[in-house]
Amino acid sequence: MAELTKKERVAIPAQQMPERPGNERNKDFKEVNLGLSQEQAVLEASRCLQCKNPPCVSDCPVSVNIPEFIRLISERKFIEAALLIRRDNSLPAITGRVCPQEKQCQSRCLRGKIDSSVAIGWLERFAADYLAAAQAAGEVSAETMAAKSDAIKVAVVGSGPAGLACAGELARMGYAVTVFEAFHKAGGVLVYGIPEFRLPNDIVEREVQQLKSNGVVFETNVIVGRTVKIHELMEEEHFKAVFIANGAGLPSFMGITGENLKGVYSANEYLTRSNLMGAFDRNSDTPITAGKKVCVVGGGNTAMDAVRTSIRLGSEQSHLVYRRDLAQMPARIEEVHHAEQEGVIFDLLTSPIEILADENGWVSGIKCVKMQLKEADASGRQGVTQIPNSEFIIECDQVIMAIGIKANPLLTAATPELNLNAKGYIQTDATGMTSIPGVFAGGDIVRGAATVILAMGDGKKTAESMNNWLSANA
Ligand code: FAD
Ligand code: SF4
Ligand code: SF4
Repeated sequence: MAELTKKERVAIPAQQMPERPGNERNKDFKEVNLGLSQEQAVLEASRCLQCKNPPCVSDCPVSVNIPEFIRLISERKFIEAALLIRRDNSLPAITGRVCPQEKQCQSRCLRGKIDSSVAIGWLERFAADYLAAAQAAGEVSAETMAAKSDAIKVAVVGSGPAGLACAGELARMGYAVTVFEAFHKAGGVLVYGIPEFRLPNDIVEREVQQLKSNGVVFETNVIVGRTVKIHELMEEEHFKAVFIANGAGLPSFMGITGENLKGVYSANEYLTRSNLMGAFDRNSDTPITAGKKVCVVGGGNTAMDAVRTSIRLGSEQSHLVYRRDLAQMPARIEEVHHAEQEGVIFDLLTSPIEILADENGWVSGIKCVKMQLKEADASGRQGVTQIPNSEFIIECDQVIMAIGIKANPLLTAATPELNLNAKGYIQTDATGMTSIPGVFAGGDIVRGAATVILAMGDGKKTAESMNNWLSANA
């Protein structure tokens, strides 16, 4: 096909992601977005202006070669496109679904100055799913490799995106990699935090299986710091280097009266019980009492996941209580739209000051105050302040706190040689190495709560540093 002129590209309208209707999908956990068709993907890719100095690439934390993979899709070279993405991003089916694209690669896309940005994330997902389907059908052989019997042993602690990316890179370099995971299932937040209606577990499982085919060994139900200590891994089990990627899984609370009442959950517990422990099944060992009227406090992705899960678990009314306004909400824009379509009630500029109880100690409501935005500070962010005498009560029988997470101190407390910052996160040098020689760290346990792609980027970059360090020291 002849090269399109700029005029022809500009005339192509933005494609819409096919999705299941809100009133159908809010009753189950199946994926909301259905994926672009081949025709849609080619049209969307043809909207790209193929910029000479593409700002989209500099806004992607792992610098995916965006114009080139999009050009390949526009030429129907779908497998080549996916393989090109994988050079920089080992988990494209995942990032294509969960990256905050509107704040990253798509934020300064030059097509956005004409009408709307190219849907880079949707195209990334399309190419990755196409490659996976071709591999499953045996049309393309999946990569397999095994570590040599004399390969140097390296340990990875935690199987979230940072751990998976690091393990993949190290295996590719020929190391014998073992990933130690505290849960019974690998994937970190990708499986226990993000619900299946956004990221189906089998997609994460596919990546874990691929790593296993490449020789990575997964040891689940191992809590490093308790089951085994870092120095035991190195001195007794002969791992020559360790990458710590245990995330930041400790929930935060507001410190208001009533947070210990029956019917109050942290989003972390609520989502883990739903996603990983089958709590939606009444016969499971760990069911959740479905709230009739649920209030989720927070405005990030975790809050959005919890409130949309509560609807699927059968609530009659689900509220999202957030102290700022919609424009300042940190959640991905797509999730906010989906939550609105599914019937979530947004109580914005509202902050809880007390959780109220009935005579049996169960939640009966939350007392809130209305907030107002202040002038923007030097960083451009607007603070909020309470409106005097604005107290009111939202009646509810369940409250889910989703106001942030902190570093889990279990591993670090058991490893006192690790230098931590004031908030308990692990300190590393520019190469990712901690205060213990040969022990590296990355992802949320170093950055604080961040994103999947930043965690993956840390895993990939630190694998290179580990390789350099091992070449000189092992
Ligand atoms: P994690 O993914 O937290 O993985 C750490 C792993 O280490 C876990 O499996 C844990 O069980 C294991 N572990 C912990 N301690 C030990 C130990 N002592 N021994 C062995 N194993 C241990 N980001 C986005 O980009 N887009 C989104 O849409 C998005 N949605 C989110 C929704 C929710 C509900 C949450 C909680 C987070 C979300 N994030 C999102 C953030 C993103 O998931 C995290 O930034 C990312 O997963 C961090 O990766 P990680 O590998 O550092 O840690
Ligand atoms: Fe965009 Fe994320 Fe893909 Fe980078 S990895 S191109 S930020 S969707
Ligand atoms: Fe294409 Fe937008 Fe990147 Fe330009 S900035 S190359 S239009 S995706």
